[in-house]
Amino acid sequence: MDILLASNNEHKQEEFARLLAPHRIVMPKDLGIVFDVEEDRPSFTENALLKAATLKALAPSYWVLGDDSGLCVDALGGGPGLQTARYGFEVHNHLMDSKERNAFLLKHMEGIENRSARFVCALALVVSDYRVFTVCEEAKGSIARHERGSEGFGYDPIFIVEGKDLTMAELGMEMKDELGHRGKASRMLMELVRRV
Ligand code: IMP
Repeated sequence: MDILLASNNEHKQEEFARLLAPHRIVMPKDLGIVFDVEEDRPSFTENALLKAATLKALAPSYWVLGDDSGLCVDALGGGPGLQTARYGFEVHNHLMDSKERNAFLLKHMEGIENRSARFVCALALVVSDYRVFTVCEEAKGSIARHERGSEGFGYDPIFIVEGKDLTMAELGMEMKDELGHRGKASRMLMELVRRV
């Protein structure tokens, strides 16, 4: 069964192609759909469901997967959290790229000793009107002092995985899939789907 991903993020597509194989991951642009949703719900799970349900209405024959993920830093009161993608927008008045956002977060964390954090991934799979699966998983870790590693995307170079002395960007894809938030959530989701 092909799964339509409610996202324009090609990094997520790559990860899901590995994590959900043999399902094939289709993107909105592959169907000529321009996909854009305002993520304004109060939780990762509700945002994931919003994305999936919005796209399901446009492509009803597909299983549609919504992913909402983010970085929650204890010393920042759980932030950027739901605002992870827009982090720093209010200060800089534009959406920053990953490098700028990582530098902005490291600046915020200067002099802060408690660097504990977690990556959260909520998934919502809308199969039909009456069959909807949601899961939310996390990967614990801490914020590095500087960027390390070149794999992955987004905040991976500044997130050190608990129990390893490596950032997500140093781990390699196989280990990121095993230990990371998206890998954990994907395995849980597939287990639920297999049960029905
Ligand atoms: P959204 O889920 O598309 O709203 O994106 C949330 C934000 O978290 C984006 O800025 C992503 O770059 C970031 N993000 C989500 N997942 C990961 C990940 O696996 N590694 C690093 N950054 C991530």
